[in-house]
Amino acid sequence: NTQVLFNSVPVGEPTETDFKVVTVAINPQSHLQENFLLIKNLWISLDPYMRGRMRNPEKGSYSSAFELGKPLTAGAVGEVIQSNSKLYNVGDVVLGHFDWANYTVAHEKAIQQKIDQSKYKFPLEAWLGLLGMPSLTAYYGLVHIGKPKAGETLYVSAAAGAVGQVVGQIGKKLGLRVVGSAGTDEKVKYLTETLKFDAAFNYKNGDFKENLKKFTPSGIDIYFENVGGEQLEAVLDLMNENGRIPVCGMISQYNGAAYGVKNLFNVIGKRLLLQGFIVGDHYNIFPEFLNWMMENTSDGSFFYETTISEGIENAPKAFIGLLKGENTGKQLIKNI
Ligand code: NDP
Repeated sequence: NTQVLFNSVPVGEPTETDFKVVTVAINPQSHLQENFLLIKNLWISLDPYMRGRMRNPEKGSYSSAFELGKPLTAGAVGEVIQSNSKLYNVGDVVLGHFDWANYTVAHEKAIQQKIDQSKYKFPLEAWLGLLGMPSLTAYYGLVHIGKPKAGETLYVSAAAGAVGQVVGQIGKKLGLRVVGSAGTDEKVKYLTETLKFDAAFNYKNGDFKENLKKFTPSGIDIYFENVGGEQLEAVLDLMNENGRIPVCGMISQYNGAAYGVKNLFNVIGKRLLLQGFIVGDHYNIFPEFLNWMMENTSDGSFFYETTISEGIENAPKAFIGLLKGENTGKQLIKNI
């Protein structure tokens, strides 16, 4: 069983030495404790929040720190190989929170749901992306916090990522003018040509604020915040009165940089709403979200890009790449 262990707390950007790939014996015949299962991972999701979990446990946060010397964990889809649980049978395909590994011995509580493959004709990995946590994040943040009205302007940062690509497309379906930014020209092309954003630009080229201003001539009504720092500062100056900012993520700060935003006073004069949220608190709207996705994706007009790395041993490299923008859309690991 190949596993990826949390080896050391990164200083700044994570490096491969912060992870340790090991192979340990696994005996599928061994006795499982009551309510435990042996699961073979099929797909593993890599997500930016994991950087926050690679910390010293004394530092508090909304999600627990990974344990040094233990496998990192992730949202994953797997198949039950052995079961000592009354809830799940051998052969069930399940969505849950499993190890970065070929196999996980998991308590049944680590399972979120059984995937009914006869009811939903989507590939299994969709439960980690299009129909999973990142899209629920996009839907909750934009619809429930952003409260969009047709004709308004939406700006989304990290727009070609797992969450951003869905935010923009939901925005288009709801009649918004959608502007996005991303870190490569290929990603910008994906946003304008495939996803039909009204405008997109490479935030690494030229003066960020000038570019954003050019593409949002009527100002910004909703900023879906994925990046933080200098982008947030520029956006605050361009927000319209009564604008909404669903604060989803601040990836520019995750490796330790703490940018001091200097113009927060805009929040007062412009009567802005800045609302942070954690998707895990909002699974009560999952049925509503799933209905919306079913209604709006079945005609083929909704796209979902993924970047797939094969093999558990390549997860550290893929994760390091995710934080640097090497992924387009959802970063996944396929267990081979
Ligand atoms: P992505 O798939 O978007 O991957 C991260 C992307 O961020 C990279 O591809 C890169 O794209 C971009 N990026 C990295 N560093 C910077 C930087 N310094 N400035 C601008 N862009 C940068 O990840 P997700 O879609 O999964 O997540 C997007 C955001 O949403 C993250 O901040 C994440 O933490 C947050 N999130 C929050 C949740 C919540 O519950 N609040 C749930 C899920 C995600 P590029 O090439 O464009 O630079």
